[in-house]
Amino acid sequence: MTSVPKPYRGRLQAVILDWAGTTVDHGSLAPVRVLQKIFADRGVEITEKEARRDMGLLKKDHIRALLRTPRIAEAWRQRYQQTPAEHDVENLFADFIPRQMTCLAECSPVVAGVPEAVRRLRNRGLKIGSTTGYTRPMLDILLPHAASQGYAPDCALCPDDVGAGRPLPWMIYENAVRLKIYPLEAIVKIGDTISDIEEGLNAGTWAVGITRTGNMIGLSEEDWQALPQAERAARLEEASRILSNAGAHYVIESLADIDPILDQIEARLQARERT
Ligand SMILES: [Mg+2]
Repeated sequence: MTSVPKPYRGRLQAVILDWAGTTVDHGSLAPVRVLQKIFADRGVEITEKEARRDMGLLKKDHIRALLRTPRIAEAWRQRYQQTPAEHDVENLFADFIPRQMTCLAECSPVVAGVPEAVRRLRNRGLKIGSTTGYTRPMLDILLPHAASQGYAPDCALCPDDVGAGRPLPWMIYENAVRLKIYPLEAIVKIGDTISDIEEGLNAGTWAVGITRTGNMIGLSEEDWQALPQAERAARLEEASRILSNAGAHYVIESLADIDPILDQIEARLQARERT
């Protein structure tokens, strides 16, 4: 027998976490390297900045977006005497998959502080959902790898599961259904890219951006630590500005900093403020 649903009392129910750059892979390094490699193998170099611009999209959509970039499309025409077409997207994606699978496990350690932060979230009574731009086979590699390091969400969905990726909100809706969470304003989406923020806003959840461990700064923890203090501050400010402009309700350096933000959101919900 189904239990009678409890009425909503303005308390948060769940967080939905991104993967690369948020919970694993400090700096979201793995996809950048693979994207640069598959283009370089075709004689078309792409910069790290170009590879990072559309991060967070389903990887095939990301490759398509790169080929539509005027600079890259022009370099492609110079090399092949034709405008890049859909079959080029398919070929690049077919090449991307095995390479990404190979480097995923070794390039995606759980970000420091994440298992402890998730424990605190569970202690507040929150469920842990997740969404990604990775495919199901890629996510299935990440899941046991992350679990062995102490991070295992209650629900892990990818675009394949719902027919489309970010910035569409379907992965968040499906997380809500599977976790039996309502309403959407009782959910906080947390991620490191513009498409993460857009996904949350499109779904009607709260949206929190991640700077230091994510794609916007794009550095391993070691490289980040090696930066001079002034440079760190400037990079954080720039990343924060971009995610705020994308519509993030809050921006933090890493998931480990989430607790006071959840307190603030709950205070706003209690005051009957909505997303
Ligand atoms: Mg990410």
